[in-house]
Amino acid sequence: MIVVSKAIGEKWAAQQVCGECGGRLSLAWGGLYGRDSYVLICGNNRDHKGIARPFRLAPIDCPGFTLYDVNKNRRKELTQAIGEDKAKALAPFEQKLTLTNSQATFILRTVWPEAPDQAVVRGALICAQYGLNPLMKHLALAPFWNKKTQRYDYEPLLSIKATRIMASPQGHWSYLDDTPRVATEAEGMREFGEDYDASKYYYSITKLKDMASGREAHGFGLVGKGETIYGMDKGNTARNQANTRSERQALDRLYPNVQPVNVDVVDEKYVAEPKGHLGKVATQTEKTSVAANGAEGGEVVEGGATEVLDAEGSAETKKSLPAAAHKRTEAEINNITTLGDLFTACFLDWKFTKTQVLKELNVKSQTDISETPAACYRRLRAVTEG
Ligand SMILES: [Zn+2]
Repeated sequence: MIVVSKAIGEKWAAQQVCGECGGRLSLAWGGLYGRDSYVLICGNNRDHKGIARPFRLAPIDCPGFTLYDVNKNRRKELTQAIGEDKAKALAPFEQKLTLTNSQATFILRTVWPEAPDQAVVRGALICAQYGLNPLMKHLALAPFWNKKTQRYDYEPLLSIKATRIMASPQGHWSYLDDTPRVATEAEGMREFGEDYDASKYYYSITKLKDMASGREAHGFGLVGKGETIYGMDKGNTARNQANTRSERQALDRLYPNVQPVNVDVVDEKYVAEPKGHLGKVATQTEKTSVAANGAEGGEVVEGGATEVLDAEGSAETKKSLPAAAHKRTEAEINNITTLGDLFTACFLDWKFTKTQVLKELNVKSQTDISETPAACYRRLRAVTEG
């Protein structure tokens, strides 16, 4: 029996099961048991304590599932981001989970034409090896500003959805104790000892239980205070990122060796294809010709650099990548037509969060913005770049 408020009890009774036996929970007034409050009771044993939320793969996450409307929305989103020709060229690969290395390379180069070869090669290798598809938001190439070289570098980034898909053949798990959530100080101290420092990091915890074997595992996710988070421009928060990382570590501990190592993870809600230029990027001397490939569903020819893979599977490229400072051209600025474009551009160019953009524009909320998004961008550029 768990003592709860009415609101929490209703929510948990609908979403959670008993953390000990997986039985159904029902909400009751605790008067019968001498409690002056609501209680959640396991249908199998009223002495059971703890809650668990069973994980279920949604149909759209299942390999080979074709949900017409969902795909239609996904295609619309992709078309808006990368244009109709490219989206069409990628259509044959939309639902495929077994991409070859060259197919994955083709997709990554088409969606992220500005990413250096090294990031593309590494991303493609992960897709081919682990059965992931960038078009299903399993993996993205994330740009980050490299202060030293003064240009954008790219890193492959997994979505938490992909992590769940990779773990799901291993068993059925549940999330215990209303996790992922903020780790308590006691939980943090137990894991990290004297290294625990809540003034420097956000700490999140996820506790998982494999219901068949009864095995449990927990994972922690840390985000440095002040760390730049992928997807911040779309509303991702440090806490959500810490939660996501904790879930990934917990899954990795519950079902070891089914995920790629040294790749960060993000909530797929915030995964998006880039739209237009980022600004200062590494230039690529050879680009994949999109029109020539894939449209007839034939063999995909790989464009770009030659790959050299070493025995460990890490990748090197033969080409050196010259750094080129690229400022947004007037035409590119005119392409900033929505507030979403504006926030993305400001984030990518100057690491501005939405809040900072609004502050710099001297408005309280985005509905107060009266200028066009392109005009706002120009005004901010004048302020930030002098
Ligand atoms: Zn029970």
